[in-house]
Order: sequence, then structure tokens, then C-alpha cells
Amino acid sequence: MNIVVGPKEDRHLMTGLHTVADVHCCDCREVLGWKYERAYEEAQKYKEGKFVLEKSKIVKENW
Ligand SMILES: [Zn+2]
Repeated sequence: MNIVVGPKEDRHLMTGLHTVADVHCCDCREVLGWKYERAYEEAQKYKEGKFVLEKSKIVKENW
């Protein structure tokens, strides 16, 4: 994937406190979404290591 993961930061989301990192396009540096680095709540642990991308910003190529 042509992405760059930015610095980690704690963010309060609807589902609780998470450590996330913004994900940027490596060409134009546009923010595409974020990555869950750490979830503090047990019920949200499954998100760790997962990416959230805005669908409108994904160009399908060779799928
Ligand atoms: Zn780009």
C-alpha cells in the first residue's frame, strides 16, 4: 500500500479512548484515514492494528 503512517496520538472516539495514527498517501500526503494502534477498552481490542480508510479516497486498482 502506498501509505505513510504518522505519529501516534491518543484520541477520544465514540467508542472510547484509542491510540491512533493518521495514515497519509505517500505521494500527495493527503490524509486517507487512521490506524488503531491501541484500544484501551477490552471490547475494542479487536481494532488494534486495523486501518480505517475513507472509502471515497480509495482508488481501486488491480483488485
Ligand atoms: Zn495521493
